[in-house]
Amino acid sequence: TIRTRFAPSPTGYLHVGGARTALFSWLYARHHGGAFVLRIEDTDLERSTEAAVNAILEGMTWLGLEYEEGPFYQTHRFDRYNEVIDELLASGHAYRCNCSKERLDGLRAAAEKSGGMRGYDGHCRDKFVSPDEPHVVRFRNPETGVVAFDDQVHGKVVVHNSELDDLIIRRTDGSPTYNLTVVVDDHDMGITHVIRGDDHKRNASRQINIFKALGWDVPRYAHVALIMGDDGTKLSKRHGAVSVMQYKEDGFLPEALLNYLVRLGWSHGDQEIFSVDELIRLFDIADVNKAASTFNTEKLLWLNQHYIKAGDPAHLAHLLSYHMGKLGIDPSQGPDLVEVVKAQQERARTLVEMAEISSFFYRDFDEFDADAAKKHLRPVAREPLERMRTALEVQTDWSPEALHQLVMDVSAELEVKMGKVAQPLRVAVVGRAASPGIDVTLSLVGQAACLRRIDRALD
Ligand code: GLU
Repeated sequence: TIRTRFAPSPTGYLHVGGARTALFSWLYARHHGGAFVLRIEDTDLERSTEAAVNAILEGMTWLGLEYEEGPFYQTHRFDRYNEVIDELLASGHAYRCNCSKERLDGLRAAAEKSGGMRGYDGHCRDKFVSPDEPHVVRFRNPETGVVAFDDQVHGKVVVHNSELDDLIIRRTDGSPTYNLTVVVDDHDMGITHVIRGDDHKRNASRQINIFKALGWDVPRYAHVALIMGDDGTKLSKRHGAVSVMQYKEDGFLPEALLNYLVRLGWSHGDQEIFSVDELIRLFDIADVNKAASTFNTEKLLWLNQHYIKAGDPAHLAHLLSYHMGKLGIDPSQGPDLVEVVKAQQERARTLVEMAEISSFFYRDFDEFDADAAKKHLRPVAREPLERMRTALEVQTDWSPEALHQLVMDVSAELEVKMGKVAQPLRVAVVGRAASPGIDVTLSLVGQAACLRRIDRALD
């Protein structure tokens, strides 16, 4: 069976690029009825933090990328890595190296000068270095031949062993390094397909050599191109939000972000909107484009708006209450938030926007929008507002239908178009010129607040 994994290093938030490779791995496993494993690569003790681990777990949960196994932590597996390193030492596939820092610096400088790439020169390959003196352990990379693999995104990749030096697999302090731990874990966790960022393509050839030295099966690789900002450089904070949880804070729906991320590199005809079930049915890593893709916030907003329009009001209300809370509003004190969502669903691109344009349902606004007031209210539309106030004060049926009729009746009495009554009334009650229909708006704002706000406008 197919087993994939996501293996983030917990050194910051969950980046949208990481989320996309996680999504690809997750979809690939789901499509094939396989398993998806989460592994936290926290061997860099200096840079790994618990807050970052939590941010990753939280982001995965928010996106709905459930894993069958894990999270596994590499820091819990040092004994296992050392066991494998000792095995490599015993079989001669690894050796101890005690080259001084000066010597290594000299090698590096010489390589830079000659424009060569090969790093370590193999000085300690056949030398005896006692385990009791300070040393690193290096992998004895084959010197001749090539490493070739069939990348599911890039096709055939061939690297000459002469380009690969003898990599450190255990540091002087005894800690194992990334290329070793990743091989041991991908093997022990039974990973069949490694889907990850392009930046690891070069590492794949090194890792394959280690797999082979250990006599283990090599997984299939798929290296996915990076996501770029609109200026063609690697997507970073400079381009806007890059943390998955920031998108939650900014009022995006997880289904919109998933739909957006999957389309960065993958396509199915010219279809843009995909449900998760559809993605699971249609996704194939072989269809992922090898070219880099550009992050486009406008398109993400468009998708988000689509999912808001199409969303279940009760579900959206649940999500919206969080954003209302951030504005200091307790939506249990006021109209039913589900009804508010139904009234606003067509009118907001994000839940943050929806919260902002819905606050007036729950509390009096601070000030009138200047343009709206100038256009519809000032000089005070006294007649229509006074008539409406009188009528609203004695109105018992507070349904949108009855309120609609009332506005119509007042307009007829005044012999004006309905807008001449509805707009001043809207600005008076809402503070601005845009809101859901005046009938729904009045109905949700409620009688007491409507009268209070009309009085304020007439003041
Ligand atoms: N921990 C590595 C990273 O975050 C991922 C390595 C891998 O997927 O093999 O870049």
